[in-house]
Amino acid sequence: MASRILQKGKNRITQGYGAGHKAIDLGREHLTGEPVIAHTAGKVVFCQTGHKNNKGATGNASYGNCVKIDHGHGYSTLYAHLATVKVKNGEKVKQGQVIGTMGNTGNSYGMHLHFEVRLDNKRIDPMPYLEADLPLPKDDKIHVTYKAYAGKWWADIVDCHDDSTNGYAGVRGRNLTAFTAKAAKGTLRYRAHLLNGGWLSWMSTSDINRPKTGYAGIKGKAMDAVQMELNGLPDYEVHYRVAPKGGDWYAWNTVVFGQAIDRLQIKIVKKEA
Ligand SMILES: [Zn+2]
Repeated sequence: MASRILQKGKNRITQGYGAGHKAIDLGREHLTGEPVIAHTAGKVVFCQTGHKNNKGATGNASYGNCVKIDHGHGYSTLYAHLATVKVKNGEKVKQGQVIGTMGNTGNSYGMHLHFEVRLDNKRIDPMPYLEADLPLPKDDKIHVTYKAYAGKWWADIVDCHDDSTNGYAGVRGRNLTAFTAKAAKGTLRYRAHLLNGGWLSWMSTSDINRPKTGYAGIKGKAMDAVQMELNGLPDYEVHYRVAPKGGDWYAWNTVVFGQAIDRLQIKIVKKEA
């Protein structure tokens, strides 16, 4: 059969996935320096070199020369017993990039590639993915849901739509006095600044289910600024902006004191590489 982790045409499975071997071993006849290629784009998070054949080795040494690539969303792949390693720890790799060559290092009984697919670092059956994409979401957008209090709680808003009148929380012309927000991933923290007052406590995603206190602001008291940060998602950042009552939006992620606000927009964006 073919696979996308070995460059040249057909290879055969010499050992399948099972209770005692949560991986697939791929072998070929007459192998010398067979290139091993990255199954999917990602970042090298484990890279082990300098190993020789060492039958009976345990732990990480059993893998011999080895590369592990993190593909995000909980998925990673691991390539073991390599003869040579062509990438470094921390390096970003593309799908199809040569990461090493097939070998017989570590606890190995002959030239082969030991291939693992992991989800949340648990080894899963690689078989469905030998020739196919990992089930990574195509849309890497992270949605944020938020709502504003202006006399009452108004509808949930998801993300922001710059050209739409529905693309913000709040009601034009009415003091926005409290809000909550939740990102689909990571922890969004946010706080409100009272008009002619100070900052109130930081709130976070986890506060949303406490209806009495789980929001930023004080119902009925005008606020003039908000601040936000997104934790736990190093590749993303939160963008937020508010508008003074009846006026035009302030710039994104700026804090301006002195005028009651009536509208709020939030979006989560991927950081520029
Ligand atoms: Zn194996």
